[in-house]
Amino acid sequence: MEDHGNSLNPVIFGRRTLIRGTVAVAAAFLVPRKALATGGIVEGDTDVMEPGATPPPLSVRPMPGDVVRVLIARGKPSVQMSAVDGFAVFDAMGSSTPIIRANPGQTIELDVNVVARGSGGVFVEAAGDGPLRLDGRPYRGRFIVMAESNGLMVVNQLRVDLYVLGVLGREISPQWPAAALQAHAIVSRTYALASRKDATHAYDLVATTADQVYGGMTAESPPGNDAVYQTRGRVLSYNGGIASVYFHSCCGGHTEDAAAVWGRDIPYLQGVPDPYCAGAPHYRWRSYVTTADLRQRLSTQLGGVGEINRLQPSDIDASGRAKIITVEGEGGQCEIPAHQFRMRIGTSLVRSTLIHRIQVANGPDRLQPDPAYDDPAPAPPTEPLARGPLAMLEGAGWGHGVGMCQWGARGLALKGGTAEQILGLYFRGASVMQLGRA
Ligand SMILES: [Zn+2]
Repeated sequence: MEDHGNSLNPVIFGRRTLIRGTVAVAAAFLVPRKALATGGIVEGDTDVMEPGATPPPLSVRPMPGDVVRVLIARGKPSVQMSAVDGFAVFDAMGSSTPIIRANPGQTIELDVNVVARGSGGVFVEAAGDGPLRLDGRPYRGRFIVMAESNGLMVVNQLRVDLYVLGVLGREISPQWPAAALQAHAIVSRTYALASRKDATHAYDLVATTADQVYGGMTAESPPGNDAVYQTRGRVLSYNGGIASVYFHSCCGGHTEDAAAVWGRDIPYLQGVPDPYCAGAPHYRWRSYVTTADLRQRLSTQLGGVGEINRLQPSDIDASGRAKIITVEGEGGQCEIPAHQFRMRIGTSLVRSTLIHRIQVANGPDRLQPDPAYDDPAPAPPTEPLARGPLAMLEGAGWGHGVGMCQWGARGLALKGGTAEQILGLYFRGASVMQLGRA
């Protein structure tokens, strides 16, 4: 994860000072990514949980309780809240006398002035069992609303399983086989519990691909809810702690070692051959980018390379992914780490670092696309739009490739595989642990 130079912004919350997120999480939130739901599958940028620069721990000691805090809105001058049976706003210090009480169905606008009536923040709780609505969208659990210099921050606090209900319908399709939904429920629960932070942080997770896409109750479906219920309390564990798990859309045929991403070996995050995602959308892909665009986006890396003549994936690792992209130009050559190349050009153009082939030519008619890289997705094939010098990239898979391949999980489930078999394939050496009921 790149450092966008955000400064930490302390927020007064009760008697404690909360620091909002981490620098990396805050930076990721400031760069909202496209996540257009297509049949329940997140398209656009599916680069789920892009690994950061810091190696993850081998396992995380379980914390008491099972509540997570999810950032769902930020930077708004005001928000509309309502609940079918009404709701109440309390001082975050914990006074039992509400600052505001809303009638059933009544919508109340909360702005910085209302939130300032609490000790730096307020809790919003629904009366009855109905959901709270934030700008019309229903959520389970309660809201914590805090004021920042640029507006309000709304955090949804709820039990982890209720959170996972709102993740499954955004990350994968509820029409997928039950075993794939169950495996994903276990992975999403594990990820959330391992992401919990102490009270110096205002939230544990963001609701975008920087963590897991979370849509509240609108993302729920009966099959997804059933998968969460069937796997309740179950997480992946390693050494008695909660495992650090990752997932991605499609591995392109081979998942990636954590060591290749973080330079640290994680025993249960080893690359494995995956025959189950063949034929998935973006299992093979082709994209085009003009060399002028490349020069602009890579300006700080290219130095005096000048007009680009050749791009070469090199230093190929055991999974087939390139570690380096060698760029040759009129003024010389340079090497760019493949991960950095991908982030600079954009993860929807360079869908993975499993790049098999890059051609550079003076016009689209001089390129020779290999039909083997026609995207098997039903989407129309991508065509070069620009004339003039451009690069054509052909590769496999979408995402960083570490951990569970979502489309592979679906493929194995369609062949009769169970949730345990799916997890056993992608997280060899980790085991499923049943957490005690709170
Ligand atoms: Zn795969």
